[in-house]
Amino acid sequence: MKNLIALSLFCSLFCPALISEELMKPTSFSNDLYSVEILDGNYLPDIDKPSSFLNFNYGERVASPAQVSSAIVAWSEQSNRLKVVEYAKSHEGRPLYALFISAPENINNLEAIKSNIAKLSDARNVSDNEAKSIIKSLPSVAWMAYSIHGNETSGADAALGIIYHLIASTDSDVMDMLSEMIIVVDPMMNPDGRDRFVKSLEQFRGTSPNYDDQSLLHTGDWPYGRTNHYFFDLNRDWLYLTQPETRGRVALINEWRPQILVDGHEMGSQDTFMTGPPREPINKNIDRDLIKWGNQFANDQANEFDKRGWRFYTGEWHEDLYPGYSFYAQFRGTLGILYEQSRMAEDGVRRPEGSIQSYKEAVHHQYISTLANLKTLQRNSYQMYLDYWDGRKFNVSKNGKYANQTFVILPTDNHGRLNALVAKLEAQDVELYRNTKVLTVQSALKQTGELVENFLIPKGSLIIPNRQPEAPLIAAILEFDADIDESVLLEERQANLRDGSSVMYDATAFNFTMMFGLSAVTVPENLSNNLESWLPFPSSIELNEDAVMWAVNSEDDRSVAFAARLMEKNINVRIIDKDAVLSSHSLSRGSVAVLAMDNINYEDLIDDIRQIATDLDISLVSIESGFGTKELPDWGGRHFLLLQKPQIAILSHANFSSYDVGVTWWSIDQYLGIRHSQLNSSMAGYADLRRYNTIVMPSGYADLNGSQKEALMAWVAQGGTLIAHNRSSRLIASTNDFGNVKLLQNTFERNFSFR
Ligand SMILES: [Zn+2]
Repeated sequence: MKNLIALSLFCSLFCPALISEELMKPTSFSNDLYSVEILDGNYLPDIDKPSSFLNFNYGERVASPAQVSSAIVAWSEQSNRLKVVEYAKSHEGRPLYALFISAPENINNLEAIKSNIAKLSDARNVSDNEAKSIIKSLPSVAWMAYSIHGNETSGADAALGIIYHLIASTDSDVMDMLSEMIIVVDPMMNPDGRDRFVKSLEQFRGTSPNYDDQSLLHTGDWPYGRTNHYFFDLNRDWLYLTQPETRGRVALINEWRPQILVDGHEMGSQDTFMTGPPREPINKNIDRDLIKWGNQFANDQANEFDKRGWRFYTGEWHEDLYPGYSFYAQFRGTLGILYEQSRMAEDGVRRPEGSIQSYKEAVHHQYISTLANLKTLQRNSYQMYLDYWDGRKFNVSKNGKYANQTFVILPTDNHGRLNALVAKLEAQDVELYRNTKVLTVQSALKQTGELVENFLIPKGSLIIPNRQPEAPLIAAILEFDADIDESVLLEERQANLRDGSSVMYDATAFNFTMMFGLSAVTVPENLSNNLESWLPFPSSIELNEDAVMWAVNSEDDRSVAFAARLMEKNINVRIIDKDAVLSSHSLSRGSVAVLAMDNINYEDLIDDIRQIATDLDISLVSIESGFGTKELPDWGGRHFLLLQKPQIAILSHANFSSYDVGVTWWSIDQYLGIRHSQLNSSMAGYADLRRYNTIVMPSGYADLNGSQKEALMAWVAQGGTLIAHNRSSRLIASTNDFGNVKLLQNTFERNFSFR
């Protein structure tokens, strides 16, 4: 028996190596599944073909971000039909490009075209006649964007071909298109996610093609390629603008106001191809003309698919209630068109009918869809501009849906939070005002749905009268309750009762003021008197070197980051755990104080405090006396708690939601600015946890084994702070072993039963 084990051990270590090297060669597989040429035009010889930037034939495998970028840089030198704009850099330093493609005379005239589009977009300043002459002069503008989810790769590969086709073709249909259109190609919206996925394709590749879509080659590994560097889903970030990729892109799209915005994705491997228009629920703030045009585009695209025997569908799971996808642009008058191509990774996928669909065919689907949509736009651009102009007039009309609607955000001392919200609204061209005196209105609707009569709007509120150019988007993100048809609600309720399913794709709640925790009301009238333009709150950094302490008020969210960044520099920081008044400065409970006495040996204390307050743009006061009158806290008493410097670990990796790990990581890293470690949760049982005083357990299905649980419990018993999110907190509460956290149902002494 022993010998057998020894032999099998020897063999498992050495035999495969010997055999494969000496006796076996990998089977030679041909992966030539799809022989149709994607690029089938006549092309200029002096523009390099896509394949010349790749180490494989164009369309057969996934181009890496570096390969896509090198093609763009080279083409920008080779072609006068092209202007390349780098609109952002990813967290990992990769460029994001928008390529403006058109006839050279249009390329040389981009600024004038853009300013005419801006004119057409504000119907308060343009007459019908002026508008019509602008429309006659305008080329159509298309925004073609791909692969926002990094592992949905075929879009960006199609984009490479599209760019080449448009800048190199000598065919008359392309030349006509270029003289009449500006085609903006945003080929690769998430280069960091794509790079992660390209790397995993390399890492899981064997000797022969793999057609099994469940294999690691196709799925990739945690945290997968979908998201960006900090694991953010960029297709949920279009309104929140938290990531550099989105901030740069939205600024450029909003400047250009394209007529269509194509967003090329991929979906499940066993699926086919889905495109617009969506089914109900469709957000009531979307101009119904866009739905009409959506059908026209889908019809033309379907013809191209029919011709080639390619299967597709529209609608089905594709609804359009939530305004935070790329379709935010629809609320600004742009037709959004979604492509969902079944995912093929790069080897191809065995389908239920037994055939194997190739990656190249997936690329071809996106390519043909793109050309079809461009042609539909070319034919209908004039009519679409007329509809757009009608919409723009409606938004600012005295009789329209938005004429008598004003959103009001009530004053707050949390300037950091309000400034953050204002920045997001301004990025969408929302016009903001402040009332210079108290306003009395007949009625106001609160966030709870309660209607209050004779409401007083305090002076200094943020006032957003919705009779303005971006009214539909403003309504979509600020109305408390999105309107949904009765029939859809009925269908939703039935689905929910029947099997717990939903007709909604994902987000159904997205009111900005509630999300920001700011009090707001909606007033059913157009407020226009006693208003001035809104200006962000400036910070006031009052730094007296002779003070006994310096403090920031806890009302402002940024006070937490202020404390964190000071401690990161080993400055001693205290929290005042009770409302205080010191040297006539009011400080709310939780305010942050830096005492000179606590930091006697710290050089550059004043400079570092000033720098951190300036970086955060937060107000800071100097306090000359530590005496609080009567019962108010004094600086030597027990209400000034010395904070312990955080030593943070985030449990990470498989079993945790990459989204929640990501947002935790991003918040601590980018916002708080504290050094920390992401810890592979499999190490929890044997890692030296004494290095950390705080462990964050993001939401997930952490299946801790006995020794891991014991190690964490011992660490908590020794004083460690365990922070668990969402599903993980349920796990901790239900195990009943971690401290005294309990599930609600376990807090009663006995179970009640109702008879
Ligand atoms: Zn996607």
